Amino acid sequence: MTYPTQPEASHFIDGAYVEDDSGAAIPVIYPATGETIATLHSATPALVDRALAAARRAQPAWAAMTGTERGRILRRAADIMRARNRELSELETKDTGKPLQETLVADATSGADALEYFGGLAATLSGEHIQMGEDFVYTRREALGVAVGIGAWNYPTQIACWKAAPALACGNTMVFKPSETTPLSALKVAEILLEAGAPPGVFNVVQGYGEVGAQLVEDERVAKVSLTGSVPTGRKVYSAAASGMKSVTMELGGKSPLVIFDDASLEDAVSAAINANFYSTGQVCSNGTRVFVQDGIREAFLKRLSERLKGVKAGDPLDEETNFGPMVSERQREIVEGFIAKGSEEGARLVAGGGRPEGAGFWIEPTVFADVEDDMTIAREEIFGPVMSVFGFATEEEVLERANATIYGLSAGVFTRDLARAHRMVAGLQAGSCWINTYNLTPVEAPFGGMKMSGVGRENGQVAIEHWSQLKTVYVAMGAVEAPF
Ligand code: NAD
Repeated sequence: MTYPTQPEASHFIDGAYVEDDSGAAIPVIYPATGETIATLHSATPALVDRALAAARRAQPAWAAMTGTERGRILRRAADIMRARNRELSELETKDTGKPLQETLVADATSGADALEYFGGLAATLSGEHIQMGEDFVYTRREALGVAVGIGAWNYPTQIACWKAAPALACGNTMVFKPSETTPLSALKVAEILLEAGAPPGVFNVVQGYGEVGAQLVEDERVAKVSLTGSVPTGRKVYSAAASGMKSVTMELGGKSPLVIFDDASLEDAVSAAINANFYSTGQVCSNGTRVFVQDGIREAFLKRLSERLKGVKAGDPLDEETNFGPMVSERQREIVEGFIAKGSEEGARLVAGGGRPEGAGFWIEPTVFADVEDDMTIAREEIFGPVMSVFGFATEEEVLERANATIYGLSAGVFTRDLARAHRMVAGLQAGSCWINTYNLTPVEAPFGGMKMSGVGRENGQVAIEHWSQLKTVYVAMGAVEAPF
């Protein structure tokens, strides 16, 4: 099956589509039906080398352009993405299975936001001037060089743009490897950047499994590696990058708490818990999968949640009325089903879902467990699927300690009408992104990233510039040079 937006070939190198079918096949499967919609090929080592060589060749001239010129290209790319939003969203839906209702507002659009935001910042990048008496020091903000981006499968367009936009704004060039599960949209990002005026070689895409990522990370020409993926992959990539003393940004997994106090708005808290567990069929790194509900409100919360779950509309993801899609792959569904079985075995109370609907595709029901205990597997491990665990708690002190008792530290949410308690809680929560009376809003203006095992560095916001550039210090002497002899 083909569809109008399907990319022309597997890779995008030096401004052109490239095919080499000697690499391992990568089937692209539409998760809603299980159909293979395209077959791409993994990059051979020679092709990876070619992509890195192109990025290296293009980098000095790209960095030598003014920030305003680079920024204009990124902002033009943002406009093209917005103009093609529907077509790109349909492709994202085919690639990931996420409902069009979501992809129309959360994927190409958020990629465009990143291109626009960092396009705007590009012209403002600068060093500083430090007066030292007659002498002075100035700093130059310079690009790092060739960067590698490696993506996960849940937000393919967004991840490519969250890495490419700040990288390119700072004068770096990039070789990006999408997840082998969702390889299509990054190619469209490459096409659009070229159309917007980015010279060939500035943004390249190579496909492949883990070993292609490993080859990229280990290459001596690479100065920076930015990974979005799981903690086990993060460990490998960070270690490989460390041996080459490369800068890294690691956007990894989470097991985030959402804490709902008795005085919260019940309706808003239920809405946030739904967003924090079932949006993108639960395949969101920052999801609030440990929902702590204070004792006085817990039964009312579970009752209202059950009622609201009647609003789930699973079905054709290309129908804009559909609000719940399939899992991205058969394998991911099996992993999630394994966790659901463990939850029941270990004594959690299944209050919704847990099953697999009939028919083709990788469907699974939105699932809720109540009476979850902190030491159960579903309370400790990242599931990355539509499985909510509801815990009880009595006091603020107790819930803060339990919320932080995890190796992860990506996100956290607090629902309360008590202003002082809300701010006290977020001050104590060990998480890179915290929300008060909402959940999972991640605008490009706000820094995003994890504490503890959830990551290193930050994407988005002005701080991202620090992670995609380096400073050179220049001391300028105005007088004679003194020497001891
Ligand atoms: P994954 O770790 O399996 O793979 C991520 C990427 O790394 C893929 O492109 C994969 O091919 C590549 N890879 C695998 N082994 C490699 C190696 N040795 N060297 C270099 N690259 C290698 O993750 P996934 O299953 O695709 O995505 C789900 C995970 O991503 C979850 O843990 C989720 O929480 C996390 N995630 C984090 C964020 C964030 O911003 N913090 C966002 C989305 C997803």
